[in-house]
Amino acid sequence: MTISNLETAPVLTIGDVTVTRVVESVGSIGMTPEQFFPGTDPAAWTGGADQLRPHFLESDGDTVLSSTARVAMQTWVLRSGGKVILIDTCVGNDKDRPDVPSWSQLQTEFLGRLAAAGIAPQDVDVVVNTHLHADHVGWNTRLVDGVWVPTFPNAEYLLPAKDLDFWNPASGNSTIMGEGAHTVWADSIMPVFDAGQATAWSGQHRIDKALTLEAAPGHTPGASIVRLSSNGEEVLFVGDTLHSPAQVHDVHTSSCFDEDPATANATRERIFPEAAEKGLTMFPAHFGGHGGFKVSKSDSGSGPLFTVSEWAPLVAI
Ligand SMILES: [Zn+2]
Repeated sequence: MTISNLETAPVLTIGDVTVTRVVESVGSIGMTPEQFFPGTDPAAWTGGADQLRPHFLESDGDTVLSSTARVAMQTWVLRSGGKVILIDTCVGNDKDRPDVPSWSQLQTEFLGRLAAAGIAPQDVDVVVNTHLHADHVGWNTRLVDGVWVPTFPNAEYLLPAKDLDFWNPASGNSTIMGEGAHTVWADSIMPVFDAGQATAWSGQHRIDKALTLEAAPGHTPGASIVRLSSNGEEVLFVGDTLHSPAQVHDVHTSSCFDEDPATANATRERIFPEAAEKGLTMFPAHFGGHGGFKVSKSDSGSGPLFTVSEWAPLVAI
């Protein structure tokens, strides 16, 4: 993995693929560790505090446990085989999010930052929504003359079929995200179907020679990851498989946003050992700081199962 600076955006090169991080926002989610990760072992936070501050915990609390978690909203921009692929599309502008006031009616310069990375909306070939939460589908669409239209007019949008079934308001499912999820469906999902740009996938989906979508359920039923494998180098974009380095130590630490914590635990139990064994960098959707990390597995029976062994060579945010 090599790093270079292209215009304003730092770029990683992995095999024949370049990776650029385009940030919508970074800051406090307004939740303490106990609120974000109910039932979590306080030792996971206090013991790992030096890894958590300042990039993963705000410095607004007297103690680690009274600080609030810090998260990034960002899109991973991949250039692969002559195509531009976006992984997740943040919160978006002008969206009505009654359950999450801080995400409602946002006005950010996200598209300007994408342009600074050399990407105009019409340049995007593929949009991946790792799952269908509001903070992963927002820039799927934008408001033009009062109508939600696809932000990326030439892109194929890849959406997990299981999430489409689960989040469709017609399904009548009860979810931990409440009624507000209905607005996400109407303003960020349906318009890309109406435009004929959406593809539902299940199981596994090959995007191109280097990129594969794989199921990683638990956070949501259709939650997924992207495996980048090119010229002998391999990394994983793990979406919301985890939200904080505090979850690295004990993979059985679920966030309050995991629809099915037991399945989310099982997914981390599957992915982490592979990442440790192969030395794969994992890039979660919401890690600020250096954005990605490698893990090593502990042999000791008593200590944490995994530790962060190396951060990705991206400028910390
Ligand atoms: Zn998320």
